[in-house]
Amino acid sequence: MHGHLDAAFLPPEYPQFFQRGDGCRLWDVDGNEYVDLMCSWGPNLLGYRHPEIERAAAAQAAMGDVLNGPTPLMVELAETLVDQVPHADWAMFCKNGTDATTLGVVVARSATGRRKVLIARGSYHGIASWSTRPDAPGTTPEDHANTDYFDYNDVGSVESAVELAGENDLAAIVVTPIRHDIHRDLEPPTQMFAEGVRAICDRTGAALVLDDIRCGLRLDTRGSWEPYGVRPDLSAWSKAIANGDPIAVLLGAEPWREGANRVFATGSFWMAAAPMAAALATLEILRESDGIETMRRAGERLQNGLREQARAHGFEVTVSGPPQLPFLSFAHDANEERATIWTGECAKNGVYLHPYHNWFISVAHDDASIDRALEGTDEAFRALRNRDGAD
Ligand code: PMP
Repeated sequence: MHGHLDAAFLPPEYPQFFQRGDGCRLWDVDGNEYVDLMCSWGPNLLGYRHPEIERAAAAQAAMGDVLNGPTPLMVELAETLVDQVPHADWAMFCKNGTDATTLGVVVARSATGRRKVLIARGSYHGIASWSTRPDAPGTTPEDHANTDYFDYNDVGSVESAVELAGENDLAAIVVTPIRHDIHRDLEPPTQMFAEGVRAICDRTGAALVLDDIRCGLRLDTRGSWEPYGVRPDLSAWSKAIANGDPIAVLLGAEPWREGANRVFATGSFWMAAAPMAAALATLEILRESDGIETMRRAGERLQNGLREQARAHGFEVTVSGPPQLPFLSFAHDANEERATIWTGECAKNGVYLHPYHNWFISVAHDDASIDRALEGTDEAFRALRNRDGAD
């Protein structure tokens, strides 16, 4: 196992293998049931095995999935996304988040004829070497030579990185809608930061690429920076857009279309039709159900409950994140020892969340399942206090 899917990085109580999912619940191969607060790391948006989405995908699969080219569903899905996302005038489909963010960089370079890309220190954009750590095994210094770094929410550091890269060689600034790096509390962007990176891209002619892979469809159906009034040139989406069926998409504004047309980009499975049917169903259900507000309320119920429990048990914690992507960290927990014990106890008590990566809420998290999760987290706080004492 590799990366985030490797349970060896988690407390020993966590299972490696799962049997099935239903709504917001998961079962491991030993038959243990969990209220799932990781949502398959984002894809589970409306509930595992959502009947209407399953039906839409199965109906297309019955006619064929991977064919010699796309079905008309591709056009319908592109038009739906372009209607829904104000900055977008065109769409390019692919499979994983890495495909979409990397295509964003490739399109930006194709359109500008420039090399350099700026990303925030600690941000995750996938496994391609333009965005992995400079010391990532299996990569060369040359793989990283065109990437420079800034600090999230620090416009001055973006300006310094632009200077280092050279304005005339800057192809793109790639940025996530919120700061959701592992091992730290979540942080929203400041208005000044969002507007600042937009202004720098306008001045330099570089593309502003919004990596909406993790937040997309959880914060705002139009794109996660729409509430800030800041529109990217390109945006990368995956995870939640087909409720778990594999698909990703790069959306772009008109001035970037020609650059996109010129690139060579394709994949054997990129035009698979069943995930496109699933995506159309997902987008329609989310639109009609006010799902984002449902997730926000459920996440808030969880966050408020956690704050109260921590207080009652005498722990100093920080509950961060927009309610749809909540997270909890302990004070005085440099090596995340408390987080490890607490999340392990949560798993033992039927709640699947994570010690150092943000969690995810789905539309299927109703009050009863949040309350069930809170029973488990309460037990976990009690176990931690019995073991370690409180603050
Ligand atoms: N960008 C962000 C912000 C992500 O959270 C992820 C996945 N965790 C990716 C890119 C890469 O997506 P994938 O794992 O589907 O390649």
